[in-house]
Amino acid sequence: MCGIAGVFAPGRDAARLAFFALYALQHRGQESAGIAAADGGTIRSHKEMGLLSGIFDEDILSELTGHIAIGHTRYSTTGSSIVVNAQPLLERTELGDFAFAHNGNLTNTDELRESLSPTTVLQASSDSEVMAKLLVESKGTMVDRIKAVLAVARGAYSIVLGTQDELYAFRDPWGVRPLCIGKLSEGGYVVASESCALGPIGAQYMREVRRGEILRISSKGLESYQTDVERAQPALCMFEYIYFARPDSKLNDRSIYMARYAMGRRLAQEHPVDADVVMAVPDSAVAGSIGFATESDLPYVEGLIKNRYIGRTFISPDQGMRARGVHLKFNPVVENLEGQRVVVVDDSIVRGTTTPRIVALLREAGAKEVHLRITSPPIKHPCYLGVDMATYDELVAANYTVEEIRQKTGADTLGYLSLAGLIEAVGRKREEMCLGCLIGEYPNVPAVHETRALARST
Ligand code: AMP
Repeated sequence: MCGIAGVFAPGRDAARLAFFALYALQHRGQESAGIAAADGGTIRSHKEMGLLSGIFDEDILSELTGHIAIGHTRYSTTGSSIVVNAQPLLERTELGDFAFAHNGNLTNTDELRESLSPTTVLQASSDSEVMAKLLVESKGTMVDRIKAVLAVARGAYSIVLGTQDELYAFRDPWGVRPLCIGKLSEGGYVVASESCALGPIGAQYMREVRRGEILRISSKGLESYQTDVERAQPALCMFEYIYFARPDSKLNDRSIYMARYAMGRRLAQEHPVDADVVMAVPDSAVAGSIGFATESDLPYVEGLIKNRYIGRTFISPDQGMRARGVHLKFNPVVENLEGQRVVVVDDSIVRGTTTPRIVALLREAGAKEVHLRITSPPIKHPCYLGVDMATYDELVAANYTVEEIRQKTGADTLGYLSLAGLIEAVGRKREEMCLGCLIGEYPNVPAVHETRALARST
């Protein structure tokens, strides 16, 4: 995962706008963050481990002068969680300097690394740096270089790139990770991972950046170059709709909130239950559980309150607290649960460690019955395209049946949304989506049996 944003705002402090755009994308990555800004001359950059609010203050932001800025919030999938892997990356070419930020995961990094000149020194361990170096070693204008990278890089990559006087954005030919563009009301443009980043900085959503498209934004305005994507199947990540994206974003013109609401309605049709109340595991399952409650004509209640400030803590709980696990994050509203037959809706079960604790917490709070409903099909396969989804060994649905999972969670009943139901709720054609984590077929990585063997060996 990761959140990226790029701003081109003549006459304004682009770094400040990039900061607030990234603030709306903090859910996409909490390990490190950074912003690079340019004023037509020098590119200045600041990045650190941690959350945006802890990294940037007025003094730091005021150093990042200029009308062009790009930024990144990181959640690592390739490369370890250390500051040298934080982004933006800064690189130098004969054309001048550039700053680079990547969301996604390449699937042919080793091959690309080997194609680099032996004199190229890599400092980080990330796939992103390999891609940035490919741009450095390519020839011609920046658009030529990006075209060359688009022709060889496989996997998921949505990129923002700032030079000393221009902003570029591009997206892999499969369109796996989201990227959209908005227009600033006072002039200029913003490119961001999700549309929820546009409103807070006064930008109007224009459209998605198309797969294989290169955008160049300069004093001449916005130019678009469409590369050939005929051989690539569209493959937008389904997990963005299930869990990752914010509900107030839209992807490919489909509101995430409405997609999740429809998933909940459909789930209620597929797995109806005699119950008293419907609740969500907050926050990602709220829209789905409202859909479920509406369809089943049951009241929607708040059964758990999430501590919004728990995030990353550097203070470890002691043994006794750790055993209580999720209780640090969620606290039950006993009055809504006591003596009730409760439907609890969650978006997904991945490793299967959170759900049993939630079910136990609801029972402790007095729930008479706990019916677990999941607004996605079982997650049975790992992700190679940018979601930290665990290996086959860790994925509970890769190793157990639905009935076994029900027993492990301690729920009275368990129902997962069907794949057909999910696809219908999202309103996209099956062939347009990456369903890798659900069915094990990936758009641009080796055949399934090979990836399975690969995953087991890591
Ligand atoms: P678990 O089954 O214990 O791995 O936890 C699954 C829960 O974590 C789901 O209910 C999601 O809300 C959330 N989740 C799903 N996928 C991810 C992910 N890749 N990274 C972090 N949290 C996730």
